[in-house]
Formats: sequence, structure tokens, C-alpha cells
Amino acid sequence: MRKSPVELARKASETIDFSDEKEVQKFVGFGFGTLGENYIGIRRWPEDQMMFYGSNSLTITPKGLLTPREHQYGLHVIYSGTPHHTRHLFGYWHINDVDEAYIRVPPTEPGGEATLVIVMRYPRPGERDMFAYYCENCLTLVQCYVYDSGNLDQGFIGVLQFEDHVVKTFNSDPALRTCKECGTVHPLAYRFWEPHNTPDEEEARSLW
Ligand SMILES: [Zn+2]
Repeated sequence: MRKSPVELARKASETIDFSDEKEVQKFVGFGFGTLGENYIGIRRWPEDQMMFYGSNSLTITPKGLLTPREHQYGLHVIYSGTPHHTRHLFGYWHINDVDEAYIRVPPTEPGGEATLVIVMRYPRPGERDMFAYYCENCLTLVQCYVYDSGNLDQGFIGVLQFEDHVVKTFNSDPALRTCKECGTVHPLAYRFWEPHNTPDEEEARSLW
């Protein structure tokens, strides 16, 4: 639920103590907790896995397909309206009406886990999340499913339920996955969370 400006002003500020594992757990996995007017997600991965997802992270820009990140650690922001997809991590292109900030922090000890912090403002009325599919051959938009996140105000659980709906719908009919320009059939969609996918959907994760 969206917090009112008055409620936020009364609190003035909030913090997450990274040394408090119980506190951190509210933001890990594929989940997002809220802090003030923001969604916060914390991901901890071994360094090689962090690098793997970084190098498989893609955006669609006026210059074509680009990997948005030049440095292994640091901050990058994917601007609102930019389609982005991380290969092998989630099976759709996400388009957000708000910016998404990604902060990557190296492990604090050799062999330890690297930390990724994702920050994005909670959607206001009229701001949406879109789940899109682009032809893998010619980059034509194949499908786009729009979730009215700002008006529905159901928190991240609403986004997850919509992800499930999108994956089921897109995978239900090959005609929905076929490019109208060149006829290429898009691989199956898959959810971020492995246990919720069928074996066929999970196999698609290795493809794109
Ligand atoms: Zn095509």
C-alpha cells in the first residue's frame, strides 16, 4: 500500500542495517520491501554469478540492444520507459514507468558474496509496469502486457501475480509468440522464481 506524504514526513527517514540479517531478509530473494516511497530489493550472489547476470543484462535503446553496465561495481540507473531483460534470470522484457537504480557492492571478504541493491520509487497513480516480448530475429514488438500498478496499489505481490498471468497467457498459444514481421516464433516465457515454472518453461530459461 502506498504511504501518505504525511506518514512519510512523520518518520523523516528509515535505514536498513546490513549487519542485521533479520532486517536484510525482508528485502532478499525476488522480493521487494518498501522503505519510504521506494521499493528496495537486496540480492546476494557469489562474485562470478553477479558478473554473469551483469554481462547478460540487456536494454533496448535507440542505438539497439545494449548491455547497460560498464563497471563490475558501482551504480547504474535504467531510466523509465527503457525495456530491460536479464538473460536466464527472468523471461520477459520489463518496462517500468519509474527509474530503476542498481547499486553493486563488492564482497567484504575474499570469497564472500557481492551485494546488489535495487531501488525504485513505488508507482504513483497512472504509472505502470509492462511485460514485453520482442522478436529475437528482428526486434519487432511481439506482445506487450500492461499492469496498472500505480492505480491498483497492490504492492509487489500484485506484480508477481501479473507476471504469472503474462507467462501463462504468452505460452498458451504459439500464434501469440509469432513475429508478424518475419514469422520467427519466440521461445516460451518463464518466471523469475524457478519452482513456479513448468519443466518446459524452466528449459526456456537456458535459451534466453
Ligand atoms: Zn521478427
